[in-house]
Amino acid sequence: MRNRTDLFSFDSIKHDCIKKRMRTDLTLLFLLFFLTALSCPFTVMADTVFCHEDQELAEDMRPYFTPSSSYYGISSQGMCAAGDYIIYTRYSSDRERTTYVVLEAGSRREVEHSSFFTQHSNSLTYNPDRQEVVSVSNNHAYVFSFYNHHLTLNRDVIMNHNCCKIAYIPSKKVYYLGTSNTIYETTDFTYLNKAFDVPQYAVNQGMACDGRSLYIVWYSVGHNILAVYGLDGSYQGVYSLTSDKYREVEEIDFLNESMLVSIANSENYNGLYRVACKHQYSSWEISRAATCDQTGLESRACRICGKAELRTIPATGVHVPGSWEVKRPATCENSGYRVKNCLQCGRIIRQETLPAAGHDYSGWEEMEESTVLTAGYRKHQCRICEKIEYKESSFLPATIRIVIENERNQIRVYLNKGDRITSWLSDNPQVAEVDESGHVTPKGHGHTRITVSSAGGASKTVNVKISKLSDEMTMTVQ
Ligand SMILES: [Zn+2]
Ligand SMILES: [Zn+2]
Ligand SMILES: [Zn+2]
Repeated sequence: MRNRTDLFSFDSIKHDCIKKRMRTDLTLLFLLFFLTALSCPFTVMADTVFCHEDQELAEDMRPYFTPSSSYYGISSQGMCAAGDYIIYTRYSSDRERTTYVVLEAGSRREVEHSSFFTQHSNSLTYNPDRQEVVSVSNNHAYVFSFYNHHLTLNRDVIMNHNCCKIAYIPSKKVYYLGTSNTIYETTDFTYLNKAFDVPQYAVNQGMACDGRSLYIVWYSVGHNILAVYGLDGSYQGVYSLTSDKYREVEEIDFLNESMLVSIANSENYNGLYRVACKHQYSSWEISRAATCDQTGLESRACRICGKAELRTIPATGVHVPGSWEVKRPATCENSGYRVKNCLQCGRIIRQETLPAAGHDYSGWEEMEESTVLTAGYRKHQCRICEKIEYKESSFLPATIRIVIENERNQIRVYLNKGDRITSWLSDNPQVAEVDESGHVTPKGHGHTRITVSSAGGASKTVNVKISKLSDEMTMTVQ
């Protein structure tokens, strides 16, 4: 199957014939493109969004297809990135055999080439899950194993639809295939299921998936249009891939952050190019807000290629105070304190003393009444902390009120509460005597004074006048 000499034994006459044939085919195709283009929404195209990144790389990438090589001008469309390699196809004069050139992406050098009877390769894709390369041509799927940069053709499957563009979708582990606006999916090519339709801009030249989106290059004369879809077929954008150099992009794929395009049918520019996206970024979106002491993160993504960029947002340096939190409440007698923490870093950023409020006492309540000789006491209680305070009341004043009952020789004494009589004294007992109950006994004629004293310290004196022993006596309070 493999024949390295094919590449170098190409017949230049056949080469010219094929070129003429291709031109005829192309004229017809262009007419078709014009007709298609009239009904296509080209007006939505933006500026060219992919730019030529590395001319040198492009030159290196086509060492076998330079004007000095006998293969110049004979191109093929299949191309794919496959791990560290790029596989690039050429077809031969009989259009049945295709040469598959394996280039090492890093060194840009060919490491191997082989020819297979796979017809003209319309599109190539690499399946890293199975280490499989698939080349499609009309309704044929040629399935290769690709191991140690070496291709081995394993299967030639006839598909139930003509689909000459292919892309492997890693996240779904399926192949998408299409030619016009219908995209099919399959895992083994024995049966193609319709996945979805996409708007048709012109001719589907190549398909690729970068893991996030499905990219289709549509070609019409002078325009290579890159349409971007979600993996469910949802529309994401249409961009122009046209520049002076890229006359007819035949196939696309992604290598790291670059897009690879192969140009064919352009005579002077046939080859493999690496182009870079002129990113069109969405606005920055905060994915993690900065706090007072921690940096945040914001990101944006290119609308075209999905490349994401991250950048840090500096810490604000400004604490965000929360509400006051009482750490120790003030009591009636002791002060407390409250704090404010930063809602972001949790540090205490303010602290305040809460002054003692003082007791809130109810009114005094008499617990024991005072007398002349004993002090009573009162209490009051704090309504908040229930603390009780006692207070001694003052003694009642000692008072003596005297009522004289002359007809009974009786001095009646009324004392203030708790008091008692301690003494009855007559200044002159020979005139009159007094007993301990205030009863006066006349003894002789004359005047005397009787003094009554209480334990509380009160005293009162009564004047006593005895006229005759038999007479009534006269007592008056002094
Ligand atoms: Zn981009
Ligand atoms: Zn803070
Ligand atoms: Zn209190």
